[in-house]
Amino acid sequence: MADTKIFETNVKPTWCPGCGNFGLWMALKNALVELDIAPHNVAIVFGVGCHGNMRDWMHVYGVEGLHGRALPVAQGLKLANTDLHVIAVMGDGDCLGEGGNHFLHAAKRNPNVTAIIHDNEVYGLTTGQASPTAQKNFVTKSTPEGSMDEPINPLALSLVAGGTFVARGFAGDIPHLTEMFTKAISHKGFSVVDALQPCVTFDKVHTYQWYRDRVYHIDRAAETRGEALTKVMEWGEKIPLGVFYEEQRQTSEDREHALQQGILTASPLGIPDRDELLKLFR
Ligand code: SF4
Repeated sequence: MADTKIFETNVKPTWCPGCGNFGLWMALKNALVELDIAPHNVAIVFGVGCHGNMRDWMHVYGVEGLHGRALPVAQGLKLANTDLHVIAVMGDGDCLGEGGNHFLHAAKRNPNVTAIIHDNEVYGLTTGQASPTAQKNFVTKSTPEGSMDEPINPLALSLVAGGTFVARGFAGDIPHLTEMFTKAISHKGFSVVDALQPCVTFDKVHTYQWYRDRVYHIDRAAETRGEALTKVMEWGEKIPLGVFYEEQRQTSEDREHALQQGILTASPLGIPDRDELLKLFR
């Protein structure tokens, strides 16, 4: 079996020591090794945020999209080359704030893309403002009297929009998070992993210990979408982790007529002279 080092560049991570991003990075490398996927067969589209800096130290095809736009780029990549394993690595604010509309529509379309959400309830890169997953009453720089809003639950959102795989893991439990990533990447369709991760610098409430006191593993996936919805909404003294729901449904690539002849990147361009065509855009 390959070593996780094949997924590392010579750039050293700049995340704060102890950041939950390290756990996610490790689990993602583990999952790719377990699935025996080579770096040249993976494309990861990153959003903007602390998580997105991973692009510099993750040795795969990497794109850092505009803020909130990782999913449209990931879907375009998948359409162009269905042989690639395409993963969108996003922050909670990035995916559910700036990119909320893209998230809903990806769940509805069911592309064969995995979405990993670095969920730490804050915008860490901009020094700790409340993100869309911030719990009610959570005090941050932008909510000095506590967040007045209810948080978005990304798994519930994906389920009601039609998503076909939803799971939750925790950066402090790398073996389990590896399993969640492995299953999500293996799923054919839109898979979402909500990865709980402490921001050790700008959140002194949701620490590793805070999560450890609450998280537990569920023993089976729900049989119906409704049952899964009830389970993913459980939050408070107990927070469930695991695969909550999985369903097989036609993917958006399966429905794409242009792909019935084969992979687009392997198809002839259909024009006599590519250079002449490119001149039109100069
Ligand atoms: Fe991690 Fe928070 Fe530091 Fe960003 S600011 S690297 S999320 S600990």
